[in-house]
Amino acid sequence: MSAGLAERVLQGDVRAASRLMRQIEDGDPASTQSLRELFPKTGRTYVVGVTGPPGAGKSTLTDRLIAGLRQQGTTVGVLAVDPTSPFTGGAILGDRVRMQSHATDPGVFIRSLATRGHLGGLSRATGDCIRVMDAMGWDVVIVETVGVGQDEIEIAQLAHTTVVVVVPGMGDDIQAIKAGILEVADVFAVNKADLDGADRLVRELRAMLELRHVVRETKVVHHGRRVSVKATGAPEAASNDWEPPILKVIAVRDQGVAELWSAIASHRSFLDRSGERKARDRSREAAQFVSLLRDRLLKNALSKLERERGRLEEVATEIAEHRADPYALADELANRLGS
Ligand code: GDP
Repeated sequence: MSAGLAERVLQGDVRAASRLMRQIEDGDPASTQSLRELFPKTGRTYVVGVTGPPGAGKSTLTDRLIAGLRQQGTTVGVLAVDPTSPFTGGAILGDRVRMQSHATDPGVFIRSLATRGHLGGLSRATGDCIRVMDAMGWDVVIVETVGVGQDEIEIAQLAHTTVVVVVPGMGDDIQAIKAGILEVADVFAVNKADLDGADRLVRELRAMLELRHVVRETKVVHHGRRVSVKATGAPEAASNDWEPPILKVIAVRDQGVAELWSAIASHRSFLDRSGERKARDRSREAAQFVSLLRDRLLKNALSKLERERGRLEEVATEIAEHRADPYALADELANRLGS
């Protein structure tokens, strides 16, 4: 049955793809066989991440990006990742409503993905869903996520180009943005540029990037490599370095969206030219593979434990009462799994 599912996904069947993505979301082991069948057909799509704090205008912006891409005849898959608790599912609905205008376009496929409490598994589930969309043959896949924690940084790293959406008036602007999410930005979109403070935010971001540059340059020199550093301005400051451009956008008025897309396109050509795309693919696959392996090994270890010593809760009781040694138990199990 799952063989049929993968086959249908490859033919672009959206219902089959939705079903498979639901299996992935639920952590259903049945998805593995389909993913194995799809894997050889993947690796073509270009993945763009759109991340930022709640309310920054990510959905509005994504909606506009879709419209722009469709005008060029580019097909788009959108994965709206909701990392919040299952009790705040409203965000998912919001995403869908805002992108409703594309609902009947066969060149657009929009799907939401929620955590459903799979702690830490969200980035792998997202990675697997991207593969499904990749296999379906969408030219571009946009992954939209709330940039608030570690999980989301991992998700941002699944993209070839990550757009970080920030808005003026977030209190102490820069401080309010998680440092980690700034690190993953390839392009900054200062959205709601119609509001006060947009220029100040641009200046602050630029200052922050310059500071980062100085740190990076010191590191590079330290490792004996020559690099040309340009303090501000053009994105392609050096052939082996990328200066994240900062673009002012008013998503609700469709202003600056075309410029945003051309910044994404230049980052894409930078990645191809510099060989960085392959490097990114490699580090993404390493992270995803380690996560997959950890999952499989843990599952095996826990079922071995259950067969030999009883359920996890029972073993935990033994440990809590100091009748079992957790270090010895873990080492012993891990050693036997490897042999
Ligand atoms: P998300 O939570 O990041 O996906 O944000 P949404 O796309 O749902 O947008 C949050 C709110 O900001 C909505 O009420 C939008 O209409 C509004 N919004 C989006 N872009 C702009 C903009 O450029 N200017 C202004 N003033 N409001 C915007």
